[in-house]
Amino acid sequence: MAEVLGVDPAGIERAAAILRAGGLVAFPTETVYGLGANALWAEAVAKVFAAKGRPSFDPVIVHVADPGEAAKLWREVPPLAQKLMERFWPGPLTLVLPKQDVVPDIVTAGLPTVAVRMPAHPVALALIREAGVPIAAPSANRFGRLSPTHHEAVLEQLGEAIDAVLAGGATPVGIESTVVSLVENPPRVLRPGGTPIEALREYIPDLRVEPPQGPSASPGTLPRHYRPSTPLFLWERGAPAGGEALERSRCGFLAFQQAWEGFAQVEVLSARGDLVEAAARFFALLRKLDRAGLAAIVAEPVPERGLGLAIMDRLRRASSGRARLDETRVWIVR
Ligand code: AMP
Ligand code: MG
Repeated sequence: MAEVLGVDPAGIERAAAILRAGGLVAFPTETVYGLGANALWAEAVAKVFAAKGRPSFDPVIVHVADPGEAAKLWREVPPLAQKLMERFWPGPLTLVLPKQDVVPDIVTAGLPTVAVRMPAHPVALALIREAGVPIAAPSANRFGRLSPTHHEAVLEQLGEAIDAVLAGGATPVGIESTVVSLVENPPRVLRPGGTPIEALREYIPDLRVEPPQGPSASPGTLPRHYRPSTPLFLWERGAPAGGEALERSRCGFLAFQQAWEGFAQVEVLSARGDLVEAAARFFALLRKLDRAGLAAIVAEPVPERGLGLAIMDRLRRASSGRARLDETRVWIVR
């Protein structure tokens, strides 16, 4: 069973020692909990893939404690990267650039590029500094499942598979980082996330957001991901057109602003319609519904601006399809 460490200097020292010895430590960042290993040690990173059940074609993000450390992992730092780091680091923005040879192939899934970010969380930064090495860390969940935004959620999924977790409580942003490839010209968003596209456009007016063509540009952007164990359907407006139906009273509803009638359980992302608050609560509320023994979860779409883009990206990958509603039932759209 994983050691549960406090986020005090003693806990961080212990966690750093485990990382230096090639072990696995889950730690809080401002986005979600990461499952960390020494990024410069291939065998240590291999244990991350094994613990998560993550396929080896899915590259991992490397976490650093300052921009100077990133410069040691990338071949060169173009002026745009410099500007983005000054403006958005520490924070939920991951930058992809050609890698240096020190970065093991397992970290990048054989790609010639490496994704790097500096997290805006005091515990993550203290841990990276104390370990003295960059930390490769995907989200601390089993592959394809819900990302953990609390150390309890990490223990539930990976308690038996990792060495330790730093118990930092809830994570403030709640949704993964925005991943931007600076290899392409113009640059491209590989995954929407905690840094809004609108903010990036001030620095990259021609930033592209359509998914890249071809299988290897960003291997981790799988159509099915972030899945709860309960089937999830995206609510679609309009009258049901027949087909398979479930009683509303056996289903849960993940609402954006307003509670809905007739469901067994309703969770509201943000009563005041704030997409930042909605992102922060998203995975925790989805986990709550997933644990409630429901027949299905219906999720209401949120506006696709700001962090709403990242929430909708996660909801689409989490869903098994769409559903329409009448007074008493949930109709699956096939
Ligand atoms: P995670 O570690 O689960 O937050 O996911 C990291 C995601 O970032 C991957 O699944 C990829 O989609 C993307 N990524 C990481 N490294 C690279 C890279 N070198 N090139 C392109 N995309 C990357
Ligand atoms: Mg993940």
